[in-house]
Amino acid sequence: MSDYKAIATPTRTKDILDKYGFSFKKSLGQNFLIDVNILRNIIQHANISEEINAIEIGPGIGALTEQLAIAAHKVAAFEIDGRLLPILSDTLSAYDNVRIINEDILKADISNLWNDYFQDDRPVKIVANLPYYITTPILMHLLMLNLPITSITVMMQKEVAERMAAAENTKEYGSLSIAIQYYTEASVKMTVPTTVFIPQPRVESAVLHLEKRQQPPVKVHDENFFFDLVQASFQQRRKTLRNNLSRHFKDILTKEQIETGFQAANIDGTRRGESLNMDEFALLVNYFYAQINQ
Ligand code: SAM
Repeated sequence: MSDYKAIATPTRTKDILDKYGFSFKKSLGQNFLIDVNILRNIIQHANISEEINAIEIGPGIGALTEQLAIAAHKVAAFEIDGRLLPILSDTLSAYDNVRIINEDILKADISNLWNDYFQDDRPVKIVANLPYYITTPILMHLLMLNLPITSITVMMQKEVAERMAAAENTKEYGSLSIAIQYYTEASVKMTVPTTVFIPQPRVESAVLHLEKRQQPPVKVHDENFFFDLVQASFQQRRKTLRNNLSRHFKDILTKEQIETGFQAANIDGTRRGESLNMDEFALLVNYFYAQINQ
């Protein structure tokens, strides 16, 4: 490609936006990346190569899509904003390995891509600069769908990325950390200043990498009950587990049953939720579950 000029530069982006008279929709989280080095870093952290097929969420004017098209085998990108379609067919016209799908990622039948588009055994990875107004719903949705993907690497709000990757006994650790880490191994790869976006978001950003687990790290009898107990344990962060859980389970477990659960799991009820690792939560939830279902 002799005339290759990356989309992700301030001048090229401005030219494209001017050419189409495009106005940003804040409500769709439209903050476009204008630094090609950041994009290459994301692609490196995602470990994208010719042997990988990629799914992108929200291609915008194609800044990341272009770098994925160069690095990956095939790219499928879901974009909700129909105004971007003519722009994308222009900016990505040099690439024949990209499919743009004009759909809401939360409503699209993503699994269809495996029958309809990828059609080979290459691993599939998700890479995106996410719309920040729905970062957590998108990630939880993608994980709950249990798609045959191997990893998710995304730009998102730094604060939320840190909560997702947090370990116990930190102030960032909470039910979101457990939910994400139940399905993946999570790590923050880099932090990113607001200056590499147009328009600049109000918050700092980070790249979060989620490597999908083959199996959850703990075995629980009932996943819903597990997540429910974890959430309840963090209801009031400064209160003890005994306090949070007695209140939450007051209609289904007696105080004695709760104490028996703590004793059987060998977990001190005066501890706070933030001090329990996932193994301990699983142990506790399985004893509580046994109390209810005996
Ligand atoms: N990938 C581009 C970049 O890095 O410059 C744009 C990223 S921008 C942060 C987020 C993109 O997601 C926007 O193009 C926005 O229109 C799109 N978007 C917002 N909500 C969406 C949804 N529910 N489904 C699919 N795309 C969405």
